[in-house]
Amino acid sequence: MLNLTRQMIEIRSILLSIGGSNALRLPSIVVIGSQSSGKSSVLESIVGQEFLPKGSNMVTRRPIELTLVNDSTLAAETAEFPALKMYNMTDFQQVQKVLYELNMSIPETEAVSSDPIQLVIKSPRVPDLSLVDLPGYIQVEAADQPVTLKSKIRELCDRYLEEPNIILAISAADVDLANSSALRAAKKADPKGERTIGVITKLDLVDSETARKMLTNKKYPLKMGYVGVITRPPPSTSLFRRQSGAQAFVAQQNFERAYFKEHKDSFVGTTVSTKALKKKLMKVLERSMANCLKPMHVVVSNELEEASYKYKVEFNDRDLTSEKYMAQTIDNLKLAIKEFSERFGRPELRALLRSELDQKVLDLIALRYWNKPPMTNKNKESENEPSLDDLATAPPNDTFWHRKLDIATASLTKLGVGRLATTLISDAILTEIDVLLDNTDLRSHPMIKNAIKDAAVSVLTTRYNSTAEQVENCIKPYKYEIEVDDREWALSRQHATVLLKEELKQCTSAYNELKKTLGGNKLKQITTYLENENNLVGQTIAKDNLGFSPGLLLRGREALFLKERSRLLAMRLKFLQSSCKSKDNKYKCPEVFMDLVAEKLTQTAVLFLNVELLSDFYYTFPRELEKKLGKSLTPEQIEQFAKEDPKVKKHIELQERKELLDLALSKIEDVMALQKRIV
Ligand code: GDP
Repeated sequence: MLNLTRQMIEIRSILLSIGGSNALRLPSIVVIGSQSSGKSSVLESIVGQEFLPKGSNMVTRRPIELTLVNDSTLAAETAEFPALKMYNMTDFQQVQKVLYELNMSIPETEAVSSDPIQLVIKSPRVPDLSLVDLPGYIQVEAADQPVTLKSKIRELCDRYLEEPNIILAISAADVDLANSSALRAAKKADPKGERTIGVITKLDLVDSETARKMLTNKKYPLKMGYVGVITRPPPSTSLFRRQSGAQAFVAQQNFERAYFKEHKDSFVGTTVSTKALKKKLMKVLERSMANCLKPMHVVVSNELEEASYKYKVEFNDRDLTSEKYMAQTIDNLKLAIKEFSERFGRPELRALLRSELDQKVLDLIALRYWNKPPMTNKNKESENEPSLDDLATAPPNDTFWHRKLDIATASLTKLGVGRLATTLISDAILTEIDVLLDNTDLRSHPMIKNAIKDAAVSVLTTRYNSTAEQVENCIKPYKYEIEVDDREWALSRQHATVLLKEELKQCTSAYNELKKTLGGNKLKQITTYLENENNLVGQTIAKDNLGFSPGLLLRGREALFLKERSRLLAMRLKFLQSSCKSKDNKYKCPEVFMDLVAEKLTQTAVLFLNVELLSDFYYTFPRELEKKLGKSLTPEQIEQFAKEDPKVKKHIELQERKELLDLALSKIEDVMALQKRIV
């Protein structure tokens, strides 16, 4: 058998997922009926489950587009709200609750919304049908509604009542049909009664003669006729019904069947029972869907042509899906990391660590050698300490200078080089990853960017402690003894000279800068004052400060400091040239020896950092990325990622639209071909 409705419902759901054009809609059965007409009971008895929200105030504020799918593989009814990504729901009280909440999301002041709720119910007992439960008939009737709201509700309903939809107009038998608001609305939309099915509910409440008259309504004859039903829940089983929905409906149908059997003679020549209604709906829908096939084929072909043209012009037919975009992004990122690994290897690691240790060496030497101890009462003994000027002439075995160098060296080797170096390199890698990310398409993807950064941090954190420990262990011997050979000494002398020259340059330029801002004369006045008054130390400023402000005096002190530092540096540079050629003179050449220690620390640390941290990072990070981005993201997350970029979003959506139209068109053509064969 050609199961046309089923296939059309599939096509319909494809077209629905494309959204947009109203022309893409296939016919549905639109259910209307005033309050208490029995509309919910009819819908629920078709489905075989109680699922519609109940309430005295209007609880249907949005159209419910209900798709019924016959699925013989299922044991019972399941519901889904595709827009909410809720699937396989078997608890219909829960379905009722979701529907209630979705309706209540529209404030009472707005009365209704045209945004439909999509609900799919699959069951072995339902026919393939597509129904719309329309809101509003109560409101249109209610006298106290503002006119604008009434017209809003009417507009919404009228749109649904248009062709090619079929109208299911529900009226209760215990109310005169002339007063049926459902029939009145149907007549307006379908004056010739060509696409309306009348349903008369509550037939058990009227005598057979009245019932018969209603079912053969002459005042508004319908081509598809009237169907009489009894959909009231059997009173004695109301408790039972709450416990098991499907069984309660079986009881209702039994009641209905028994009733019509008993009054068989009165209903000859009419159509009665829920079963007959279901059959009729299927037949009618199938027929009207078949009528829609050709016009739908034209509309879908046109839309497809337009989408294909746009796709070619705007995106040059380049195939792109969210998954592809994600894979491409990961590949680009891996490539960027590979390039980074070629740019940032052992030499760069070494340069980075060395320059950090150079700074530490300069700080330590400044602290231990170049700084003049301040003349305060507290350290009077330091007055007798030899100054750096005395170092040149000190005897070679002078213990004071030996101790000084030993302490300075220990400060360097016990600095915590392991942690310092590991932190330094980790930070450098993270900074580089940041730069790298900003240079790729990932710029516009904060979510993935953070995931990548987290992955980098987690790889580095895993290695941090063990790397720091390894490095610290390997430099341990230098804490006790440092052997020096002539070649190393010569290299360090050269390097120390460069460093000192640079330091001297910086001191001189800082001094000149001060001179420029204060003016040469002024600076001279201040420094002369400071030197004469011996006001260099602390905050003890002489009462008569010649009108110099504290700020000026501070700058004056700074200038004197820079001048003295420059003098010392120049002296040390000269000494390094003349008297530091041999490693035997190491106690007199602390700058050279400390440089040599820094070099040894760097060399050793780099060996381990390179293997333990850097190479490991380059190996592990791309795999971690693959794991984090490629495999553990859900399709929704991948889609969200791809569509974060507006251009990519447009590209993917157009491609999806094109593919879906293509699919819908081929399905329509299949159905048309099949139909031709059967006819
Ligand atoms: P709605 O407001 O149009 O959705 O109407 P309902 O389906 O909620 O029904 C209104 C009332 O009529 C409820 O109390 C139902 O139990 C009752 N009812 C519905 N169908 C029948 C029927 O066929 N016979 C009888 N006697 N009562 C019915």
